[in-house]
Amino acid sequence: MSEKIFEQVMEKLERGIETIGDLKLTLTIGYTSRIMKNERLDPLKPEFIELKKEIVKNLDKLVEQAIKTLKNHFCEVILAKTREEALAYILQEVEGEELVVKSKTNTGKEIGLVKKLETEGIEVIETDIGDRIIQISKEKPSLPIGPAVHLDPAYIAEIFSKHYKVPVKPDPAEIVKVGREKLREQILAANVGITGANVVIAEEGSIGLIENEGNISLITRLPPKHIAIAGIDKVVPTWKDAITILRVMEAAFDLRGAYCSFIKGPSGTSDIRGLEVLGMHGAQEVHVVLVDDYRTPAREKGFEELLFCINCGRCFVACPVIQHAGIEIFLSEVSTGPIGLVKAALIKGINEAVAIGLFLCTGCNRCKELCPANIDIPGMIEKLREEAIQKGIILPEHQKMLESIQKFDNPFGKEIKKGL
Ligand code: SF4
Ligand code: SF4
Repeated sequence: MSEKIFEQVMEKLERGIETIGDLKLTLTIGYTSRIMKNERLDPLKPEFIELKKEIVKNLDKLVEQAIKTLKNHFCEVILAKTREEALAYILQEVEGEELVVKSKTNTGKEIGLVKKLETEGIEVIETDIGDRIIQISKEKPSLPIGPAVHLDPAYIAEIFSKHYKVPVKPDPAEIVKVGREKLREQILAANVGITGANVVIAEEGSIGLIENEGNISLITRLPPKHIAIAGIDKVVPTWKDAITILRVMEAAFDLRGAYCSFIKGPSGTSDIRGLEVLGMHGAQEVHVVLVDDYRTPAREKGFEELLFCINCGRCFVACPVIQHAGIEIFLSEVSTGPIGLVKAALIKGINEAVAIGLFLCTGCNRCKELCPANIDIPGMIEKLREEAIQKGIILPEHQKMLESIQKFDNPFGKEIKKGL
């Protein structure tokens, strides 16, 4: 078993190093840029961390409250204990559809949504331009919030030209123009829009989404059905708390979140004789899929800090292992980056974590230092390593080093003369 995992790690390293060029440059610029030292984030951190601690402590009650208040606003709500339950519900809601449009959703990624829908013969169109580039090019994504940031514009123009059968110049504005025109047609044609939710407000019964492209605004308004998927960790007590979290999300990458949407159920009107009719310009149905899956087990296993994550990607930029060994490191089907490694261990098991690089972490602590929630990712990685070792998953190279230390008091496999 260890040999097989070792081969997988080596394969990942080799593939990763092949993709290193632009990524290394992007991450080096990102890590040394003002974004990582940004002064907007630091003042927000203490309140944010306290809030997250309180939320995780009271999560069960908050989830219960959110379900009740959302239902009061004509939302259909499901609390999915597992990813299978979440997928089954979504499949039932998209039955008969040939096309769905979606925005970025980390929870959707974790539950394997796109793969499942495609297996059922449903075409899924990513509407975030970065995700759409990755979808068309079939390249590996990099930063969670900028998945195509490592790709050359000339290359993107080439793959867009081939895919859309129109000439596209290697100019960002031109690429975006073509992407927008093509996506607009697909958004108008779809009956279902699937999004994530950055916050779910328990007191108000409302979901909140922040974006800069405007695709979320369109796909939550234009298709008649909107399905929002969110981990239960996205539930917050009040509006004020929701704003705290959205401000941290913006500040984490020094971004300008051009749009914030708070959605409190389907659109509608009572303008005709005061009779309420659901569905006017916005969605007629709003479904909220709250997913537990690995979150309760994470709390029980002492990994509750995992639920503080807002998927900002700062730990990805910070990590020297990704910077030097490439995009494949810590990348799995369900997540990416240092925090993604921990998530993958909880979702797919310890073997998966070892195969994507559990033992490659240097314990440098950079990810924790730059995380808006100061999540102790290195500490969690340490715990997972202990678990792997207890289960006998030790890589052959490590086994050799161990034997050498026992025999020669050094890891180099031979006796070394003491002296200067
Ligand atoms: S502690 Fe590990 S995961 Fe975190 S930045 Fe350092 S090498 Fe990467
Ligand atoms: S662990 Fe922290 S830095 Fe990494 S994505 Fe989550 S919130 Fe951002």
